[in-house]
Amino acid sequence: MSATMKKYHEVGQSTTSQVDNTQRKEVEVEVYIGENGYVQNAGFTIKPIAALEKGKMDGPKAIVLHRTEGASVQSALDSAGTGIGTHFYVDKDGTVYQTASLLKHTYHVGKIKSRCMVDGTCPADETRQITGWGWSPSKVHNHEKVKAYPARYPMNTDSVGIETVSRCVKNCGPKDKGVPEWEPPTAEQKSSIATIVGILKKEYGLTSADIHEHDLISYKTAGEGAGLYDDE
Ligand SMILES: [Zn+2]
Repeated sequence: MSATMKKYHEVGQSTTSQVDNTQRKEVEVEVYIGENGYVQNAGFTIKPIAALEKGKMDGPKAIVLHRTEGASVQSALDSAGTGIGTHFYVDKDGTVYQTASLLKHTYHVGKIKSRCMVDGTCPADETRQITGWGWSPSKVHNHEKVKAYPARYPMNTDSVGIETVSRCVKNCGPKDKGVPEWEPPTAEQKSSIATIVGILKKEYGLTSADIHEHDLISYKTAGEGAGLYDDE
């Protein structure tokens, strides 16, 4: 996505003059994020869901990629009405729904893992401390949340979420032994995800290092956020 992404609109749609009608011309309309925190001129379907919009957004400093784990965008939007969900939903046909303002954070990440444990960069005493807790997502999350991004993974308060309509099709349960398999994104979904990411990168100065897959940073089924975006 280039920084000069444009969308074309027709103008001069007079109904009174044949001449005016033949003089339609294309003008460039710039994609931007409005003062209300909603993307303008990108062809997105703006569908605010009040229950999703929590407190003020810090940044945003990162993007988290998700799959809805459901068959339809409608089921995902219905579930968003309960207040758990995020800013963008990408339907199978590539339609993008923006459901929350980028000025507000949403509940889409949950508890975060320890980034330095995953990266193998924690100091020895911290490694001992975290290892000593065993399986304790709450303790780890509370330990991590006082760090500043990007020393920790992004949290609800400082990240934008993108949900792609896609189901897990095999080995989806916690007791399944095999690697979980997910529906791949459609070409239209991949294109729309790239568009959203491009807009956010440009607007907020984010880089490829700020794009995270949900299951890698939190406690989700493996592969949930994989294969949705190819960095150029
Ligand atoms: Zn997710």
